[in-house]
Amino acid sequence: MRNKGRNIKNVGEGNKALILKLVYTGQCSTRAELSDMTGLTKMTVGNIVHNLIENKWIAEGEIKTNSVVGRNPVLLCPDENNRRVMGVYISRDKVVVSSITPRALISKSIEFRLDHKFNAKILMSNILESIQTILDEEGREKFIGIGVSCIGPVDSRKGRILSPTDFYGISNVEVCKWLEKKTNLNVLLENDMNASALAEHLYGKGMGCSNFTYIGITHGIGAGMVINGDLYSGAHGYGGELGHISIDVDGPVCSCGNRGCIEVYASIPNFMSHVVGDAAKAGKSILKTHEVIAFEDVIEAAKAKDKLASLVMDEYISRLASAIASGMNLIDPEIIFIGHDAAIGGDWFAGKLEKEINERLLFGEEHRIKVEISAFGEAAPVIGSGVIYLNKIFHSLL
Ligand SMILES: [Zn+2]
Repeated sequence: MRNKGRNIKNVGEGNKALILKLVYTGQCSTRAELSDMTGLTKMTVGNIVHNLIENKWIAEGEIKTNSVVGRNPVLLCPDENNRRVMGVYISRDKVVVSSITPRALISKSIEFRLDHKFNAKILMSNILESIQTILDEEGREKFIGIGVSCIGPVDSRKGRILSPTDFYGISNVEVCKWLEKKTNLNVLLENDMNASALAEHLYGKGMGCSNFTYIGITHGIGAGMVINGDLYSGAHGYGGELGHISIDVDGPVCSCGNRGCIEVYASIPNFMSHVVGDAAKAGKSILKTHEVIAFEDVIEAAKAKDKLASLVMDEYISRLASAIASGMNLIDPEIIFIGHDAAIGGDWFAGKLEKEINERLLFGEEHRIKVEISAFGEAAPVIGSGVIYLNKIFHSLL
């Protein structure tokens, strides 16, 4: 992350946005820390902070009492009573609309399920209704903008959802234009993997880490890559399609047209239908005691050393690791964060994956890549939706 400010004319707005970022992301909480971190003079910092307080971006909190010499500094914090962003996460089976605080915490959330009865019009009017409810309950004047994180592919520059597979025929939705017209708020769109990576980078375990990959495992598998401190999404915004790394040239045909893509085996629904089939044939297993087997049931049964669960989970992790190692040999990150639905596997799952990935990496013995669960777990794309907009104001206040 670039935290250096510049003491020259005409960069006031940039410095203001930088100071806002440092306070919102919890990196600095006093004027002295801001001055040290940015290299800006104490007077410049003082003026900017004064302006940000006046305009209700930040607030003064309690007095810091552990200072040894001199006056105890006043702590700065986000003005949480007056600022919010709206986050909208659109996945394949549900939508989560949330009010997100400047510290990237969920203040209020409304969720609804998606199914084949939805079309673009119903989807958008349901989203709008949830947004209006939150605006009414929390106070419209607090909201500075809306971030939408959506399953790909999306055209984030044009604010359009393109043509996600298995998405009830919903495609080419001008989500930004539509929501801007109805709410009078600015709207930004990003794919859910990039949004999650951004949340990790600005507020999660990826703070201060210049090279990491966020991997989301859900109905699909995708990656958000932070490379040299910046989000990398490729020339056309379609980078990070980790789910379409093929592990078998003769494997089943994937929705992308290729064969044997990891998504065909390891997306959560595809894996679970495989588990259900195996459980039906198996003699004795904890999994047979469940009426409906969920991903977390397989994890728990494998932890309890259930034979069938251990077998299917070992195979699952081995396939995933094979595809991830191929991707990581290309980008060489320091650390991988696992999020979306698979985050429920916790440290046990991350640890097994880390071992198997590193065994397959070209330089795995010398430079291990750590694998951890995202700081936001399954909620990463929900938090990420709000962070899309916070990130925007950290570059220039609107
Ligand atoms: Zn594919």
